[in-house]
Amino acid sequence: MIFREDLLQGQVALVTGGGTGIGFVISRELARHGADVAITSRNPEHHTQIVQEVEALGRRALAIQADVRDPEQTQRVAERVREELGRIDILVNNAAGNFLCAAEQLSPNGWRAVVEIVLHGTFFMSKAVLPAMKEQGGGAIVNIGANYAWLAAPYVSHSGAAKAGVLNLTRTLAVEWAPYNIRVNAVTPGPIADTEGVRRLMSDPKTHKAVLDTVPLKRLGKREEIAWAVLFLVSPAAAYITGHNLVVDGGMWFNHRMFRPEV
Ligand code: NAP
Repeated sequence: MIFREDLLQGQVALVTGGGTGIGFVISRELARHGADVAITSRNPEHHTQIVQEVEALGRRALAIQADVRDPEQTQRVAERVREELGRIDILVNNAAGNFLCAAEQLSPNGWRAVVEIVLHGTFFMSKAVLPAMKEQGGGAIVNIGANYAWLAAPYVSHSGAAKAGVLNLTRTLAVEWAPYNIRVNAVTPGPIADTEGVRRLMSDPKTHKAVLDTVPLKRLGKREEIAWAVLFLVSPAAAYITGHNLVVDGGMWFNHRMFRPEV
């Protein structure tokens, strides 16, 4: 354990897309450090395992089927978390969609789907938890970004633009909601092992090497390393940090030899 086991004792966290990949590990680590955890995503098949893991850690778990693109559904999610777990202290906006496609070929629906999940979803879910956090006298929101949003993002123009929007939203909400004692920060991953996207992208050894060549630390990140950055930002250690973007990518974003996937 890197942090104290009771770091988040008595708190309730909500993680969008908390049933798979990085969100799964964020949810498990929040529970391991004392939080009760709610997750939301569209596919109930993604809910069973995380609920079991959280309950096995002795914490309360709640999984809610919802689509973050729909503000009525995000509203309902926040209401159910409050009804069933009593409060909302932490929100992690982690849900995302992505696929490789040259901008020239990208359809309006493809563009819309990704921007709506990432950017609209982050805004709708954040607004939905606002009343609870205001009434409780504070809270912590962490938005998950992506390091290609800092540079150009060839073949993920939809995701790059949406994630860049999320970074600006992080800073703006940090300022607007500071009077409510709500801190809003971002964690920006580079390529992370044991995730579907990286598995797809790096199945070919040539691509694997080409990506690692752009990472100064010469390895992929671990899902836990993203979760630990989230834990830090929601913990009292970060009580004076808001509007910050914590980049967790092995130094990749300093590297201007941009990796261009083959599509
Ligand atoms: P992932 O496993 O595909 O997770 C995405 C999650 O979002 C899924 O659980 C999915 O669940 C949920 N989701 C998708 N659309 C949704 C919607 N409309 N409403 C509600 N939930 C929705 O991806 P990941 O690799 O773990 O990525 C997690 C986060 O890290 C994302 O924000 C991603 O952009 C970021 N990131 C990842 C990497 C990487 O190397 N993997 C790099 C940079 C940034 P359902 O299908 O059940 O809805």
